[in-house]
Amino acid sequence: MMTSAAAESVALVDAHCHLDLYQDPVAAVEEAERRHVFTIAVTNIPSVFHHTANLARDRVYVRAAAGLHPELVDSHGHELPLLWPLLQVTRYVGEIGLDYSQGDANAFARQRRVFSEILERCALHRGKILTIHSRRAHKDTVEAIGDRYPGRVILHWYTGTLRELERALAYGFYFSVNSAMAASDKGRRILAALPQDRILTETDGPLLKIDGQAARPEQTALIVEHLAGFWRVDPVDARKTILTNFRRLLEESEPAE
Ligand code: MN
Repeated sequence: MMTSAAAESVALVDAHCHLDLYQDPVAAVEEAERRHVFTIAVTNIPSVFHHTANLARDRVYVRAAAGLHPELVDSHGHELPLLWPLLQVTRYVGEIGLDYSQGDANAFARQRRVFSEILERCALHRGKILTIHSRRAHKDTVEAIGDRYPGRVILHWYTGTLRELERALAYGFYFSVNSAMAASDKGRRILAALPQDRILTETDGPLLKIDGQAARPEQTALIVEHLAGFWRVDPVDARKTILTNFRRLLEESEPAE
């Protein structure tokens, strides 16, 4: 499908991308800028945040997020104190969350302690935008955040039950969806259950591949085209919906003065 010039005039949103993990991160950032893709550049451990912050410096579209990935809690949990000063310098926090796909009950308990502490610190700062991992831990993840979190929550690549999804919607969370979700039955059921005003797009690149290649931020155009077909609207209008959602999320999370 050819993307029309009208569609290309509307900025895209990649709400979850690991820009620091591309072979050429500078080229990835420059492409996101050139193609007008608002990109939340998540990081997996606090000690690499400054690298991504440097990449994002003076960029219009790329924002660096500070995080500690749940699967790295055991190997890098000692870096947790390094996260606190980073909360002074960025509104964006991720990748954080829970992952119960590997490990034992003790490891999951350690993840929950770290996640709760991060949530508490973020709540103190108010206005943070969180991008959250929840693989095989959807219920505990949604519960840990709760319905009073004073900021904005984006559940990234949600693959849980529709029941938890309903709860997350009731708590006001957003969902960032990607091409892999559109390619599976379960993913499509999730897309169908999400109201248009709570959807953002993501690539999770370069970890997620499209046609065997690391997904790049501008390829969020593909999931938008899928959504457009699904919503029976023009791709230009689907892009506008996603961009409106992103802008609303930013406004909603403005810290109170
Ligand atoms: Mn990720």
